[in-house]
Amino acid sequence: MRILLIEDDRDLAEGLRRALEQSGYTVDWIADGERANAVLKTDDFDLVVLDLGLPRLDGLSVLRQLRAREKHIPVLITTASDSVEARVKGLDLGADDYLGKPFELTELEARVRALLRRSQGRSTGELRAGNLLLDTNARRASIAAVPLDLPRRELCLLEILMTRMGKVVSKEQIASQLFSFDDEVSPNTIEIYVSRLRKKLAPAGPGIDTVRGLGYVLKP
Ligand code: CA
Repeated sequence: MRILLIEDDRDLAEGLRRALEQSGYTVDWIADGERANAVLKTDDFDLVVLDLGLPRLDGLSVLRQLRAREKHIPVLITTASDSVEARVKGLDLGADDYLGKPFELTELEARVRALLRRSQGRSTGELRAGNLLLDTNARRASIAAVPLDLPRRELCLLEILMTRMGKVVSKEQIASQLFSFDDEVSPNTIEIYVSRLRKKLAPAGPGIDTVRGLGYVLKP
């Protein structure tokens, strides 16, 4: 899952980025509204954490333009302003949730998980495919209750495939969710991750089929 973090407070942004990455998300950080607006036009994200007070273009304008493009990405607003007016305006413009600063990291992460679940139409953090279980809250996977040893990116890849089970997911879709701007991605990087994950699922779990020229599909 890829998150765009729009925040001009460098210390806060670095802390959030580190924490979210440790929780298994791919995170891109942008510190000004105008750049955020440009990036949201070209790149796909699963969720946006949006500060309202930003240089060059304020957060509400970023949100307004995002919603005008009819993009249904979950947006979590964070702001130091505790005015009810700003909160109401943000929600009316199409924000999905609101968190006043300062906030606890654990609360932000819980809200991120809840928004992602909701956007995927799930009410719990568990994904299942036969005997394969992925706990997206605890970031753990198991087959027939035997834990799988999956590094962060393999776990993310599994989540991407499980949330679209039975559907073909293109290499481009996988790449955009698995890697941030700063990552070097060669054409066969995705193939390498898929083949590693396939091997770990192989003995007892569901298979990952390659659909030539199109992408990959996790068989239910
Ligand atoms: Ca700010």
